[in-house]
Amino acid sequence: MPLSDTGRRAGRLIRRVYYVGPGQCNICGSRVRFRSISRMLGGTLAKYGCPYSLDDFETLNHRRYLCPVCGSADRDRLYKLYVDRFLQPDGVRRVLEFAPSAPLSAYLRSRADLQYRTADLMMAGVDDVVDITDMPMYADGSFDFFICSHVLEHVSDDGRALKELYRILAPGGRGIIMTPVAPEGSFDEDPAVTDERERWRRFAQGDHVRLYDHSTLCSRIRQSRFEVCALDRRTFGRETFTRHAIALGAVLYVAHRPEADAV
Ligand SMILES: [Zn+2]
Repeated sequence: MPLSDTGRRAGRLIRRVYYVGPGQCNICGSRVRFRSISRMLGGTLAKYGCPYSLDDFETLNHRRYLCPVCGSADRDRLYKLYVDRFLQPDGVRRVLEFAPSAPLSAYLRSRADLQYRTADLMMAGVDDVVDITDMPMYADGSFDFFICSHVLEHVSDDGRALKELYRILAPGGRGIIMTPVAPEGSFDEDPAVTDERERWRRFAQGDHVRLYDHSTLCSRIRQSRFEVCALDRRTFGRETFTRHAIALGAVLYVAHRPEADAV
């Protein structure tokens, strides 16, 4: 039987009291002890012989990862910082989020100033079922902003996906593009690898088809005519990152379609 609204609210309140702590989730507002995924995810990487540790990944605060109240991950909280600062009520209107994260999605949907849609090929409950490499249902320039988080590492032809993202974005529009990013020089890609264990070892997850590093991710985004900027704690503040349990080394990749550029 589905939980009633009263049941959900009661559960949230109990978690809020039980996990009260020094951090603050900027999505649900709770003051909490963020929960770790170090043992679970670190153990899995080690089991498959992945040569990287969790600390090697760029935007992954595995020790203070999960908000126990709303379920936000550290990257959700990073995107919320960007949204709060750059999606002003008098600016961005049409927003598309791929593979939506429930806590951030609920917030974006609640904003009356945004025309917000969700999209994915596999996920249940999204507004639009789409293949990111071929999205004919969206006309050119349909959106002012998109979030494409932890999608491209699952897509065989990421260049084609990036070209589609560019096409559906209006000139002057922006989008968050995030993937796992391993240390520089670690880029690895091999479409012939389909074995789940081998993918864990080489790409750090059983359904990933490649592992990006910083320069390869940026160059692929630029190859699709986007400009790209990498925002970090210098943009948002060290204290803000710490309070919201975002790793101090976290980097937010924002792609920009230039104003004057036509398809
Ligand atoms: Zn939260």
